[in-house]
Formats: sequence, C-alpha cells, structure tokens
Amino acid sequence: MRVIANPKHAEHAAPGEWESGAVIPCYEAQGRLDAIRAALDAAGGFTFEEPPKLSEDCLTGVHHAAYVAYLREASAEAKRARDPAAKQLWPTVFPYGPNPRATGTRALRGLYCFDTYTPILPGTFAAALGGASAAARAADLVGEGAERAVYVLTRPPGHHAEPDRCGGYCYFNSAAVAAERLSKRGPVAVLDLDVHHGNGTQHIFYSRADVLTVSVHGDPAALYPFFSGFADETGTGAGLGANLNVPLPPGTGVKEYRPALARALDAVRAFKPAFLVFAFGADAHESDPIGGFKLSTKFYAEMGATVRELALPAVVVQEGGYNLDTVGACVAEVLKELQG
Ligand SMILES: [Zn+2]
Repeated sequence: MRVIANPKHAEHAAPGEWESGAVIPCYEAQGRLDAIRAALDAAGGFTFEEPPKLSEDCLTGVHHAAYVAYLREASAEAKRARDPAAKQLWPTVFPYGPNPRATGTRALRGLYCFDTYTPILPGTFAAALGGASAAARAADLVGEGAERAVYVLTRPPGHHAEPDRCGGYCYFNSAAVAAERLSKRGPVAVLDLDVHHGNGTQHIFYSRADVLTVSVHGDPAALYPFFSGFADETGTGAGLGANLNVPLPPGTGVKEYRPALARALDAVRAFKPAFLVFAFGADAHESDPIGGFKLSTKFYAEMGATVRELALPAVVVQEGGYNLDTVGACVAEVLKELQG
C-alpha cells in the first residue's frame, strides 16, 4: 500500500497541554508517527512517499480563509518571538455574549480555538498544511484510480478541526480535505472510527447531501469533544440524513462495538458512495491512555477486514491513538486487512 507521509509533522511538538489547572505532558507526541512508521516497516508491503507540494489550495471548501490566514500568521508570530513564553500561543478567554468582537491577538486566540489542548507553535502551520497536502495527494491517487487504497501517515490529527477553529490537537481537517477533493468526482462517505467524535468533519459537511459523515465514538456526555456527537444530530438542509452518530458508553468492548460498526457500515452502503474516507484512530484500543474503550489489537484486524467488505476505493487518514507501544500494531493490523 502506498503511504503518503506528512513531511512537516515534526515541526509541531506541543510542550504540554493545559488540563484542570496544570500543564501535563502532551499525549499528541512526535513519537506517535515514528511508532506507526516502524510498525508498518516491520509488517512489510508499504511504500512511503511525501506529497509533491504543500499548498493551501487544498483547504478551500474545508476551512474559512480567515482561519487559514490566522493560523499562518499566528505561527509566524510565534516563530518571530524571542521570549520563550511567546513562542506558544495558548487561548485563555473564549467568545461570549451575543456579538463577540475579536480585535486583539489575545481575543483571536480564543476566537479561532475551542479548547486548551491545542496551542499554536512556530511550526504548527507547516505541520498542519503538510497533513492536509498529504491527504489531498492521497485523494488524487484514489480519485484518479491509480490506487485502490492509500494511507495518510500524519500528525497532528485533523478530525476535530472545525471550519474556523482548531481544537483537540487538530488544526486542519485532513480527512475533510480528502473528502472535499473526492466529492468533485462522486459521492463520498467519511467513516470515523477514532474513539472521539469527529466534530469538525461533521460540521464541515453538515448541510451537504454529497458527503455522508458517520462516526462511532464515546458518548459525548462522558468523552471529548463533549458538545457534539449525539445520536440525534442527523444533518441539516440538503444534508439532512447524511450524518450518523453512533455514541457508545465508556468501557465499550468488542462485543458492543461490533454491532455499532455494522450499523455504521450499513449506513455507508445505503448511501452508495463512490469513495470512502476512513478517519482512523487507534485510541479505542484497551491500552489507550485517554480513550476509555476496550478494543483488542486482534479486533483491529477484524475492523480492517470489515471495512474492506465495503469494496470502495479508500483514503485512510490517521487520527488519534496515544499509546506509543500499541498504536503502530493497531494501524498495521487495520491496513493489512484493509488491502487484503
Ligand atoms: Zn481521538
């Protein structure tokens, strides 16, 4: 399987994340990508390449131009800063009131971000654009019929990134970039099997009939991102009926996950898409430090085989998965079975 790797991922490495009054080590670490790469190398059958160019063009239709410009400028501002503290842009105040106005840099940090896990660093823009560009390249290869399945090896992840906000370690929504690109050629289904709800992807396509978004995840009553991912969110306008959320309780294991996955795949089949974008996170694994689900490594092979039964040309985009000892094996199992 061809793997398109984000050449700039290492430029973004958060020094920590802000949780309940303390800075803790960031789960979204550089080593995640290295661990996955090592597992795929060991498994064999994967070839690695980089996207031929990094371009903001692929963000059109996915992210607002003002947000893209903000992320570009904020990263440059962090790069220029001499004071080490000013090299990390963290939001502290978020929009409130009926007509929030953001004119200064501190307001913009809160305007364009929705949590305290997602700082902007000198290399953030480049790393995020590297992932989006890798996803665009993968979508072109699959859309043109050059490949049946292509894997996008990237971090930071993307599925929490909203049209105009970063959050949940995500800055640009790479899976949405792939889906938007493929949607020019035919209807697309996005299947999100990260343990967290793919809020950004849902909202980017929420009013569109040509892109189905399906997400199986931890119930937002208990798990990040808390404000969306509920079962009664089904789309709006022309997109009504083109969004399916399957929330599951904390502690979900294989026995409960299997029928939820079957339901998600039934929805994909019923939509009759021409292409699949598989937003894959390994953080539903039993060893993940933040997921809270109990899927086994063995089940990830079953997951890959089950998705293969859809028989759709597919772009697989890496999302979460935070146990460095197991994330690689989960990815390798899914991809080996997916390509058959
Ligand atoms: Zn996740």
